[in-house]
Amino acid sequence: MVDYKLKEIFDKGLFRGVIKFDEPMAAHTSLRLGGPAEVMVFPEDLASLQNVLHAATGEKIPVFVFGAGTNLLVTDTGIEGVVISLRDFRDVGFTGETDGSSVVIHAGAGTPLAGILHFAQKNGCSGIEALAGIPGYLGGAVYMNAGSFGVEMKDVLVSVTVMNGSGEVSMLGRDKMDFSYRQSNLPEGPVILSADIALGRDKPEEIAGRMKEFLQRKKNTQPLGEPSAGCVFKNPEGDAAGRLIEAAGCKGMRTGDVEVSSVHANYFINKGRAKCADFIGLMEAVKERVREQSGIILEPEITIVGKK
Ligand SMILES: Cc1cc2nc3c(=O)[nH]c(=O)nc-3n(C[C@H](O)[C@H](O)[C@H](O)COP(=O)(O)OP(=O)(O)OC[C@H]3O[C@@H](n4cnc5c(N)ncnc54)[C@H](O)[C@@H]3O)c2cc1C
Repeated sequence: MVDYKLKEIFDKGLFRGVIKFDEPMAAHTSLRLGGPAEVMVFPEDLASLQNVLHAATGEKIPVFVFGAGTNLLVTDTGIEGVVISLRDFRDVGFTGETDGSSVVIHAGAGTPLAGILHFAQKNGCSGIEALAGIPGYLGGAVYMNAGSFGVEMKDVLVSVTVMNGSGEVSMLGRDKMDFSYRQSNLPEGPVILSADIALGRDKPEEIAGRMKEFLQRKKNTQPLGEPSAGCVFKNPEGDAAGRLIEAAGCKGMRTGDVEVSSVHANYFINKGRAKCADFIGLMEAVKERVREQSGIILEPEITIVGKK
C-alpha cells in the first residue's frame, strides 16, 4: 500500500500540505472523468516535495506529476502510486535580466498560464498573447510545449528549474529539453519547478488588444465552455486534425456520454457521466474513419494516464 510506504514522511512532519487517499481524478481534470489516484499530494514547499519524491523513488512507487489536468485522459481504474500536484508553486515576477528590448519573467510551475499572460500584459511584456485562452499551469504548458496561432512555449522559454527523483534541483536550458510539437523531454525529470521566459516590450493596451483578438478567435471556433481536454489528436504535417475529422463525417459521433464536438471536431466533450473507456472507444472509431477517408493515421495529443 502506497499510503503505508509513505506513512513515515506524513507521520514525522516531513510533509507540509494536503494529502488525499483514493482521490477521484474526475474532480481534478477539465474532462471531469477518471478513476482515483492511490494518493494525491499537494506539497506546500520545496522540502515537502523533495521528501515525497525521495521516498517514492526509494520505495519504487510510481510518480505522476499533475498540472491543472487540462490535457489529461485518466483511465477509469485510476492512477497507481502518487500523484503530485504543484498547484501551490505559484508566483510570478521579473528576474531583473534585460537587454533593453527584452525582459525575463520567472514563474512557478503551478502559476496559471492565464495569470502569467495577465502579468505580462499589465507590465508591457509581449510575445505570448497568442496563448490567450489556453488553460492549465505553466509547468504543464512547458512540458506539453503548448501553443496556438503559431506561437509555442519553446519560442519564449529560456530555462526551467527541475527536481529529479532523488529530490535534487538543477537548471536546464531550453536546448536541453528536446522540444517538438506538443512534446518535450526532461532528461533530469520528472518535475518542472519553475521556468524563465523572455519577452519583448510593447504598450500594455496594444498587448491587451491582441490578446482579446486571439481569445475571440478561439471563442468563435472552439467549445471553450464545455468539459474537454482540448485537442484530442495532433495536427498531422500540413493539415488539421479537426478538418480531417469533420471531412470524415465524425462531428456529433457519440460513444456513451462522450461526443465529438459540433463546434470543433478535434474536441471531444463529456456530455454527462462519460467514462474513459468510452472516450478511448470514440478515439478509435474516429481514427479509423479518418484513416479510411484520407489514409492519414492520427496520433493522440492528449496524455492518457492510469492503470489499463
Ligand atoms: C478548452 C481547452 C483549450 C485548450 N487549448 C489549447 C491550445 O490552444 N494549445 C495547446 O497547446 N493546448 C491546449 N489545451 C490543452 C492544455 O490546456 C495544455 O496542454 C496545457 O498546457 C496543459 O497544462 P496543465 O497544467 O493542465 O497540464 P496537465 O494536463 O495537468 O498535464 C499535462 C502533462 O504535463 C505534465 N506536467 C504537468 N505539470 C508538470 C510539471 N510541473 N513538471 C513536469 N511535468 C508536468 C503532466 O505529467 C502531463 O504529462 C487546451 C485544453 C482545453 C481544456
